[in-house]
Amino acid sequence: MKYKDIREQVLKAILEATKLGLIHGTSGNISVRDKNENVVAITPSNLAYDTMTVEDIAIVDINGNQLEGKYKPSSETPMHTAVMRMREDVNAVVHTHSKYATVMSMRGEPLLRATVPSNMYYPIKTTTEFFPPGSEGLAKTAVEAIGKDGDVTLLKNHGLLATGADIDSAMTCAIYTEECAEIGYLAALAGFNDFISEEDSLFIRNIAKGGNAV
Ligand SMILES: [Zn+2]
Repeated sequence: MKYKDIREQVLKAILEATKLGLIHGTSGNISVRDKNENVVAITPSNLAYDTMTVEDIAIVDINGNQLEGKYKPSSETPMHTAVMRMREDVNAVVHTHSKYATVMSMRGEPLLRATVPSNMYYPIKTTTEFFPPGSEGLAKTAVEAIGKDGDVTLLKNHGLLATGADIDSAMTCAIYTEECAEIGYLAALAGFNDFISEEDSLFIRNIAKGGNAV
């Protein structure tokens, strides 16, 4: 089988995301790029993840054209490959329709700075317009929101799109973003609004990256 390594990474990640409750049924999708071969492994469309095998993972080129796999690649492939085309440093994308990211995306505003672990990804933007899954409009707005140095964005009325240099980084980003959305939602529901300031956010991030406090 060709591209076994990236196929295995996608399968392992989708099973973990399912176990964590980030993904239900066939909802959500994950991709990993092999930069040497310039191909992308991505979850197939409409196939239950709990019985999926490594062979079932589709392989597409960087423009989303299918190269390998008996099932069609995810209908949301254009969004994954659009991000990878723009960002040489992104080799993995995790897209979920997770509960709290979807709720908070309805605000159409950056995610509230609610938790320390998600701090390294701030500001977490939200796209301001809804586009149907798989559409060029969605891919375009997602790419714009991620930008040249963003890690993750919420997608309005849809979920989240997390990226990373590898699958572990992208998964961590998705997990911490969903957690931040959950805490932010619960805090807002409880009437609390004392979120982390931009200044404190920069301070924490600088220390996390090995720098001095600013
Ligand atoms: Zn989606």
